[in-house]
Amino acid sequence: MPVDATLPYDDQNIFAKILRGEIPSKTVFENEFALAFNDIAPQAPTHILVIPKGAYVSWDDFSARAPDAEILGFVRAVGEVARAAGLVTSGYRLLANTGLDSHQEVPHLHVHIFAGQPLGPMLI
Ligand code: C5P
Repeated sequence: MPVDATLPYDDQNIFAKILRGEIPSKTVFENEFALAFNDIAPQAPTHILVIPKGAYVSWDDFSARAPDAEILGFVRAVGEVARAAGLVTSGYRLLANTGLDSHQEVPHLHVHIFAGQPLGPMLI
C-alpha cells in the first residue's frame, strides 16, 4: 500500500525497526548518518536501499527538516555505498519514491540504488 508522505513519522515502520536492530537486514554500509542494506525483493542484480539514521518520512520531509550536516552526510553516504559496491564504472540509478503517486511503501526515507545490468531508459 502506498503511504501518505505528509503524515507524521511512524516509529513502528519497518525501516525504523531495522535501524533499531529489531528486524534483521543484509547491511552493506553503515555510518553515523546512514544505513544501507540489500533490498529484500531485488529488482536488479544490485538493489541496495540507503536510509538516513534520522526519523524522516520521505525525501520531502528530509529535504525540508534535516539539518545541513545530516543532508550532506546522507548524500555522501549514498555515493560511498555506490563506490564501495563498485558501481561507478558501469553506472547506477538512484530513486527515492515520495508519497502516494510514487507508490512509496515504507514511510522512512530510502534511496534505491539499482545497478548490475543496463537499466534502459526511464519509463516515467
Ligand atoms: O520505494 P518503496 O517504498 O516502494 O520501496 C520499498 C522497498 O523496501 C521495496 O523495494 C521492498 O522490497 C523493500 N523492503 C525491504 N525490506 C523490508 C521491507 C521492504 O527491503 N523488510
